[in-house]
Amino acid sequence: MSQITLPPLPYAENALDPVVSANTLSFHYGKHHKAYVDNLNKLIAGTPLEGQPLEKIILEVAGKADKQGVFNNAAQVWNHTFFWNSMKPGGGGAPPAALAQRIERDFGSVDNLKKELLTAATTQFGSGWAWLAEDNGKLVVLKTANADLPMTKEQKALLTIDVWEHAYYLDYQNRRPDFVTAVMDKLFNWQFAADNLGV
Ligand code: MN
Repeated sequence: MSQITLPPLPYAENALDPVVSANTLSFHYGKHHKAYVDNLNKLIAGTPLEGQPLEKIILEVAGKADKQGVFNNAAQVWNHTFFWNSMKPGGGGAPPAALAQRIERDFGSVDNLKKELLTAATTQFGSGWAWLAEDNGKLVVLKTANADLPMTKEQKALLTIDVWEHAYYLDYQNRRPDFVTAVMDKLFNWQFAADNLGV
């Protein structure tokens, strides 16, 4: 049966330095992300979930108390792959025009969106994620706890920031706001968001 695989990083481990150091990315991708993949494969081996696409597994087990471990690991595999693609070396700057238009319509300005994302990321108590997402045609900022993700509420993820401590502690210690601001300003892959939105 085919297994869930760890997708390759879309850039070199040192490509996001110094915003995300090679040390952080090496642990985050090579240890944390890989562990979620390995744990998921162990949990679904020999079950009807084995061989299913990742998104199908996530939606199948979401909200089922006896499948919490499968959900957590599957969602974290998806979330991390999505996070790597939400960043790129030399990112940040201005979003592509069609996306900028939608952001201005729903948040007033790109700066307002970034303020809302920073608030979501810094008020997420404990581990979790901050997201730009689409909900019923409108762009929204969300925060989710632990492994939770927009797709289980029929919201489409556009960009995300990992705010688990392992995402920033080696580089920023307790300064989560500095990490979030640097990712938005210097690494955000707005084209990935535009592609996800289909504009
Ligand atoms: Mn993480």
